[in-house]
Amino acid sequence: MSELMYSPKNAYEVLSAEEINEAQEYCEGYKKFLNNGKTERECVKYAINLAKENGFVEFIDGKKYNAGDKVYVNQKNKSAIFAVIGKESPEKGFNITAGHIDSPRLDIRPNPLYEDGNMAYFKTHYYGGIRKYQWTAIPLSLIGVICKKDGTTVEVNIGEDENDPVFYITDLLPHLAKDAKPIHAEDLNIVIGSIPENDEKEGKIKNAIMKLLNEKYGINECDFQTAELEAVPAAKAQDVGFDRSLIASYGHDDRICSYPALSSLLTLDIPEKTCVAVLVDKEEIGSAGITGMRSAFITDFLLALCDGSNARIAFKNSAAISADVSAAFDPTFAGVYEKRNSAFINCGPSICKYTGHGGKAGASDACPEFIAKLAGIFDKNEILYQFCELGRIDQGGGGTVAQYIADRNIEVVDIGVAMLSMHAPYELASKTDIYMMHKLCKAFYENY
Ligand code: MN
Ligand code: MN
Repeated sequence: MSELMYSPKNAYEVLSAEEINEAQEYCEGYKKFLNNGKTERECVKYAINLAKENGFVEFIDGKKYNAGDKVYVNQKNKSAIFAVIGKESPEKGFNITAGHIDSPRLDIRPNPLYEDGNMAYFKTHYYGGIRKYQWTAIPLSLIGVICKKDGTTVEVNIGEDENDPVFYITDLLPHLAKDAKPIHAEDLNIVIGSIPENDEKEGKIKNAIMKLLNEKYGINECDFQTAELEAVPAAKAQDVGFDRSLIASYGHDDRICSYPALSSLLTLDIPEKTCVAVLVDKEEIGSAGITGMRSAFITDFLLALCDGSNARIAFKNSAAISADVSAAFDPTFAGVYEKRNSAFINCGPSICKYTGHGGKAGASDACPEFIAKLAGIFDKNEILYQFCELGRIDQGGGGTVAQYIADRNIEVVDIGVAMLSMHAPYELASKTDIYMMHKLCKAFYENY
């Protein structure tokens, strides 16, 4: 291949044996993060613990911080921001990465409980973009909090321990599927039990389940109305392939970018510029809400970091990577991709100048000056990366948090790991790509 021509490079042809080993080891930490962070709440808890172990302390608004100080903000236990204070004035700008820690799932509805056909069920409401048939006939865990009116909170996590029971959504048997319709959102009902009480006529199974829950958690049926319970796939992250080069897991999107954004920040000593990693909730449903990227808590934290410096100048000079996944080329579904503009497995993180749909609608179309400067930094630091779009034009599309960063006059581009089966209960990604995302974020923090 001539130097004049472009072709994405495969990590296994470029990386040393030592680096490939490093990638393997790095991914052991990532798998732990996945298995301990099935919900945004669990991710926040795990990430903050990891940061604390690395010398981070809770940020106090108004307190004076010095170069090398490491702080974090916990936003409602569902989003978190981590920062390492740099040597330079805030007016030189912040180097920011932002990944999201919410993933598609099934939320338990406010009045979820019913019984039918000798079984008790929970009604669910899907969260994010899912292909509904994929959520039937797989083991599900139930994770979340039940906030009670007396001010106490009950934490729920059932299905993750191998001795736990799991939950289940039924599917139609092929024998009776002649007139089968696609699975509808109202069909995603979770089986939660089947043993009736002896002494009641109506709602025998429902009552028995409520009695169990009352004994274990001290809750009644009304407490579901003030709960946040999420049904997520119970499966654990696992290596895939004879060569163990890939990882299948629930929630790669977007823990696969959030984890590198954080893990690389944890390795910083005293950076030139203040470096910030935002792990944010609500991306899958449009980034609205008090824990989403559009919330002022992110702006407010950056303003607090300005500490008397001119915040407008600080924002204008800041740079951000919207760290989110892209779709890797899938030969089985080649028709939805445009091969020349697709990302490929093992070729490093993908730089996506614009997302959106149709004629780039809704995209934060990044500035070429910015992308070129970043790519130059990545080249110098021997980062493997590729340029891509999501798929064929007019085939669909997607969005990220990039536009909400740009709204704050902060330069931003989407860069993330390209993966397969995005939004499925069990997604697939490459180990070298995950590791390279860590290196890319570190190069950005230290050199932009
Ligand atoms: Mn995403
Ligand atoms: Mn997504």
